[in-house]
Amino acid sequence: MSEPGAAPPVPPELVHEAARARLRQERARLSRSLERWGAEAAEHRRRVGERDPCAYRGEAAAREEIEAEARTRATERGCEALQEMEAALRRLESEPERFGRCGRCGDVIASERLELLPQTRRCRACAESDGTAEGR
Ligand SMILES: [Zn+2]
Repeated sequence: MSEPGAAPPVPPELVHEAARARLRQERARLSRSLERWGAEAAEHRRRVGERDPCAYRGEAAAREEIEAEARTRATERGCEALQEMEAALRRLESEPERFGRCGRCGDVIASERLELLPQTRRCRACAESDGTAEGR
């Protein structure tokens, strides 16, 4: 992290502070979404349970089924993301000196990257060579 022309390094305390705020905000947002999807899924299951098996093949029901699947996938992704936020917050508290360092090459993760993805464990180069979406 000392390429010529690179922005001066941001003090780690500031990076940590910003990451913590961002992580908490994201965690709250995800929790709300998951709660809502959970309630919708419960409502869906209740309605499906009430329907007689023939009526269930209608167009509206098919659409509802597609929505339910999309919601399930979003919920899975949301749970995963929430766990990443939690893990990042724990790392931030328990080993702040390692937070913001790449878990693979040990390099400092650019502060702009941490701003966008405070939960990341990889620097951009490692994330790209991993081919991991969003560079976990
Ligand atoms: Zn790296």
